[in-house]
Amino acid sequence: MAYDDSNIFARILRGEIPCRKVFEDEHVLAFDDIRPLAPTHVLVIPKGHYTSAQDFAEAASEAEIVAFVRAIGRIARERGIDASGHRLLANHGADGRQEVPHFHVHLVGGRDLGRMLPRAAEE
Ligand code: AMP
Repeated sequence: MAYDDSNIFARILRGEIPCRKVFEDEHVLAFDDIRPLAPTHVLVIPKGHYTSAQDFAEAASEAEIVAFVRAIGRIARERGIDASGHRLLANHGADGRQEVPHFHVHLVGGRDLGRMLPRAAEE
């Protein structure tokens, strides 16, 4: 899938749309999700143009991957959800119900998040 430069996270990266910034370095931007599902709900995105988790895994440089993983750990610690627990989630493609076609990881925590996924019969 070709990268769509008009997606909402591309616009945030270009500064066209505001965000509540949580963290930024050379490779990574993190900001609060606009519709939070938990007391902490941060979106961590690479600055590079990767459409999905799969694209990032296959095409990102080692420096980008290291920066990304380290950023997640740092934000979790800063938010005080390393000891209490949290969840990392990356939706990919149609079955993953990915809405925004710029790779991102949801970092959620600050409450008991319940079971990981509903069983098929409960959907
Ligand atoms: P996903 O289904 O993994 O693609 O999730 C996309 C996420 O982006 C959703 O949780 C939205 O609430 C969030 N989102 C959409 N627009 C914005 C925005 N302008 N600022 C922050 N988060 C956003």
